[in-house]
Amino acid sequence: MQTGELKIYNSLTAKKETFNPINEGYIGMYVCGPTVYSNVHLGNVRTFMSFDMVFRYFKHLGYKVRYVRNITDAGHLENDADVGEDRIAKKARLEQIEPMEVVQRYTVDFHNILNKFNFLPPSIEPTATGHIIEQIEIVKEIMEKGLAYEVNGSVYFDVLKFNETNDYGKLSKRNVEDLIHNTRELDGQSDKKNPQDFALWKKAEPQHIMRWPSPWSDGFPGWHLECTAMSTKYLGEQFDIHGGGMDLKFPHHECEIAQAEACNGHSPVNFWMHANMLTLNGKKMAKSTGNNILPSEILSGNNDILSKAFSPSVVRFFMMQAHYRSILDFSNDALVASEKGFTKLMDAIHSLEDISEGSASSFDVKAWKAKCYAAMNDDFNTPILIAELFEAVKQINLMKDDKASLVADDLSLLKRTIQDFVFEVLGLVDQQEVQADSDKLSGVVELLISMRNEARANKDWAKSDEIRDQLAALGIVLKDGKAGTTFSLN
Ligand SMILES: [Zn+2]
Repeated sequence: MQTGELKIYNSLTAKKETFNPINEGYIGMYVCGPTVYSNVHLGNVRTFMSFDMVFRYFKHLGYKVRYVRNITDAGHLENDADVGEDRIAKKARLEQIEPMEVVQRYTVDFHNILNKFNFLPPSIEPTATGHIIEQIEIVKEIMEKGLAYEVNGSVYFDVLKFNETNDYGKLSKRNVEDLIHNTRELDGQSDKKNPQDFALWKKAEPQHIMRWPSPWSDGFPGWHLECTAMSTKYLGEQFDIHGGGMDLKFPHHECEIAQAEACNGHSPVNFWMHANMLTLNGKKMAKSTGNNILPSEILSGNNDILSKAFSPSVVRFFMMQAHYRSILDFSNDALVASEKGFTKLMDAIHSLEDISEGSASSFDVKAWKAKCYAAMNDDFNTPILIAELFEAVKQINLMKDDKASLVADDLSLLKRTIQDFVFEVLGLVDQQEVQADSDKLSGVVELLISMRNEARANKDWAKSDEIRDQLAALGIVLKDGKAGTTFSLN
């Protein structure tokens, strides 16, 4: 498939560059996943959705993609300066449950929400606690290179020493002098030689449950280390793309670069990609100020911010209408407008089914298709792609009124291209089809309920129980009431 040259904005060089994978036909992509100590934040859903779109487009182009997105289940402290409680341990203490119960609860929540928004699962979803040994090995290597030091059982990365031969701050465009100038020393809380040093291993306080043995102490890895360990393990010392939210650029990604360069002597990643933030009614989202909405609250309509519930595809369409590097403002008006646009797009796709071929083409489908690819090849410009899709919508509506026509080949190319971009690349779901499927399911279950009623009328209890139990095994629960039998999906 000839689709043109793909350019990606590389945060490392601060410009759009032509993307060529290290191994032809294959792409290795790592994205920093969630810290699973609370319900997934809507802003994080946007970040992960941006990379889901990137993943989908690469697959659409025919690449074999290994997409690694981790789960942070240990080591992420409340404060980026390596102080404060572990976020998961704190939640466990507050709720009086085991840290791994916190991890389980919010990992399940994360997957549920992402499924609702039609995310593709990553190829590998590794956890920090599953890679403690690999992390300890990296600490050892960095110590052997003389770029880390131990104090009281904790190990810190020596940023100043590293910076003598490397460039710490090159991703976030900071220099070490400014960092030294701007970092406040946290009184007596740190064993660090310099405040900008960061923890590779932390000795656990006696009350800290999440601890592992190491050559230095019973403790836990520093937060930045897990991503270096897991990306290296699954994608190699050098891979194509590393992504994450803009807020992770510093210190998290800067530290990842430093760790990998200290260990392997070369830069770990060719392209760094950062997705921008989501605001709510023009302001930063924060639980503390109440300017906050959970993804599940958007879908249920159970919130004080929106006038009604919105479907996952409308939310997805809304997010795709902005470029991933732009700040996007979430509001009721914006969602209402997106819902209109989404409905218009789906209506056009449905009416395309009834349009028959004409004797001539009044619209250049090949040129239009090339524009769709050009939009995506320009740093995944989904808003421009959507504008092109609406060019097609305009033509479809003209054809419906017999004011335009396409010959058979052009018509099928138009259909195929729309399907590809709307469903495969943007990941939108045709709600009408979902509704039709659910109507079909209801019809089948109703049929089985009436067969069971017949069996009961004939006192064939074995048959009646069999129908109930087989449905239950499929997650369909029957409930007998005064008004008859109803069912629910488990
Ligand atoms: Zn990370």
